[in-house]
Amino acid sequence: MAEQLTLALSKGRIFQETLPLLKAAGIEPVDDPETSRKLILETNQPTVRLIIVRASDVPAYVAFGGADLGVAGKDVLLEHPDAALYEPVDLKIARCRLMTAGKPDIPTPIGRLKVATKFVESTRRFYAAKGEQVDIIKLYGSMELAPLVGLADRIVDVVDTGNTLRANGLEPLEHIADISSRLVVNKASMKTKHQRIQEFISNIRDAVRERNDD
Ligand code: AMP
Repeated sequence: MAEQLTLALSKGRIFQETLPLLKAAGIEPVDDPETSRKLILETNQPTVRLIIVRASDVPAYVAFGGADLGVAGKDVLLEHPDAALYEPVDLKIARCRLMTAGKPDIPTPIGRLKVATKFVESTRRFYAAKGEQVDIIKLYGSMELAPLVGLADRIVDVVDTGNTLRANGLEPLEHIADISSRLVVNKASMKTKHQRIQEFISNIRDAVRERNDD
């Protein structure tokens, strides 16, 4: 009997874009997480199950062994630089850019820049690398609001089309990082379930290659 594999995923864009890759690897969930309230989803393979967690919780679930594998955005992984994880495959899904943004045509304020973001770690590193001291304000959502109400001079957020920024009178300014989702693996599982996980990685890698060759 093959060992049990648990894969941690978040609902929404990552789940939807991971599904075709799993399908190409022969794995299909029995329930639809968008309609089911179940947090553990069985699949057509009795030894593979999916767990549905918050996107920002995927590194914790995988690093601490709640799941053997997971799919996490690079934006989330960059916020957890100390998580003990392997990151063997760039799935090339949910692509976007981590950027600074602000109101157009506003001169850089004198004194410290106030930057609102949920990506505190990436923001800290970005400004530190530029040798700029900034005050970072941690927010959990609706970052675009911060410059509009004078809470911050800049935001750092993920940008895809830029429509959300533009709809709020903001413009993208500096590129911090290209973002896509990654397959992550628990370090202990990689040892104890080596063959099974290598096979999974290899199947997913093939699925990514096929999808991007089209
Ligand atoms: P946009 O297409 O730039 O208007 O993106 C809309 C919003 O969706 C952004 O503010 C982000 O919060 C979110 N978003 C876009 N792409 C991604 C992604 N790949 N991963 C996570 N969030 C995203």
